[in-house]
Amino acid sequence: MVEPKPVAIKKITAGKTLRKLMADHFYELDRAAKEGRPKVAWCTSVGPAELLRAMGFVVYFPENHGAMLGATRMATETIPAANAIGYSPEVCSYMTSDIGAFLQGRTPLSDAYEGIEAIPKPDVLVYNTNQCREVLDWFAWYARHWSRPLLGIECYRGVGEVTGVHVAGIAGQIEALVQPLEEITGAKFDIDRLRETVRLSRECSDLWKEVLETAATRPSPLTFFDSTIHMAPAVVMRGTQAAIDYYHELLPELNTRITDGVAAVEGEQLRLYWEGMPIWGRLRDLATQFLELRACVVASTYANSWIFTALDADEPFESMARAYTELFIVRSDVHKEKYLQEMIGTFGVDGIVFHDSKTCPHNTNCRYAMPQRLQERLGVPSITIAGDLNDLRCYSDEQAKTLIEAFVEQLARR
Ligand code: SF4
Repeated sequence: MVEPKPVAIKKITAGKTLRKLMADHFYELDRAAKEGRPKVAWCTSVGPAELLRAMGFVVYFPENHGAMLGATRMATETIPAANAIGYSPEVCSYMTSDIGAFLQGRTPLSDAYEGIEAIPKPDVLVYNTNQCREVLDWFAWYARHWSRPLLGIECYRGVGEVTGVHVAGIAGQIEALVQPLEEITGAKFDIDRLRETVRLSRECSDLWKEVLETAATRPSPLTFFDSTIHMAPAVVMRGTQAAIDYYHELLPELNTRITDGVAAVEGEQLRLYWEGMPIWGRLRDLATQFLELRACVVASTYANSWIFTALDADEPFESMARAYTELFIVRSDVHKEKYLQEMIGTFGVDGIVFHDSKTCPHNTNCRYAMPQRLQERLGVPSITIAGDLNDLRCYSDEQAKTLIEAFVEQLARR
């Protein structure tokens, strides 16, 4: 029997730099929104951020704000305000918590950063439906509210092999954004600037990949819960030198942990994979529970989603199209299972924790018997936790706790 042992989560020292980096990011956005320059573009998490940056925009990611609403548990109070204007409790709780917070005139940014009173008002909103249609509905609400232009890319879904046809279709849509964006900024598009931004983005992605791969070591120096924090630069600052500099600080710290045999989870006995969205409002509780059970959640599809190995400065439009279409969430179940099989092998995974996220069917992969197929083919057991990314009304602490304890017990017996 695995006896839970009270232990503290090990802090990563680079986190101090991260806090400063995030503060700089939000103050830059706040300044731009107040002064009217540079222009502010809102972008979905895997939208064409490189193009927007190369065209001189400062880029704001509402999903990052959604995650903050979840992590601070403010979401629970703000979601009903969006429900009241017709956005169902069944749809994306990033969207409903974000719109609800706006309607209530609230943002966690105000609590975290003195002087910031509101989210930055956009000059343009640019989406990519590669992850879901909800992002389009979400951005459309703000575009109507502020009468701002809404531009975007309509992506393929359920893609098996990514072919030249897919790449050409998406690359064409990205290129078509250039002219309307030029009209908004009043500046000419510069292909060399785009190449440079894509190069920076690729470098950031490669470093982020290296960071995540440190967890393949036994014991792992990093947990999934750490990665949900340290992924922030890869998400909101890709295409900047600052993001690269950050990972140049984080990576050596993790490598030193490896050299010194420092485990993120003391006495690591089991290695798990997290499949699905984080449960933002319960990250600390879950991290603590796994820590006490000496089970390390070593990898996740979620944190891996900001690895873009296809990015190539020589072919900026095509490579962005490929990178954004190769994304896990865009792919067919056959491809997803192949990918998970690779992850299980690379990270030496003993079991998978599937999160059935009530309001995000797109990032939930346990509803069509994938866990059963993986168990049958690879012999890797799993559990499914019912919950949600932001709406804690869909999550039971007791049920999840009991399920995880029983799962760890079952794996330990194996
Ligand atoms: S992928 Fe899921 S969580 Fe993300 S915006 Fe779409 S519905 Fe919301």
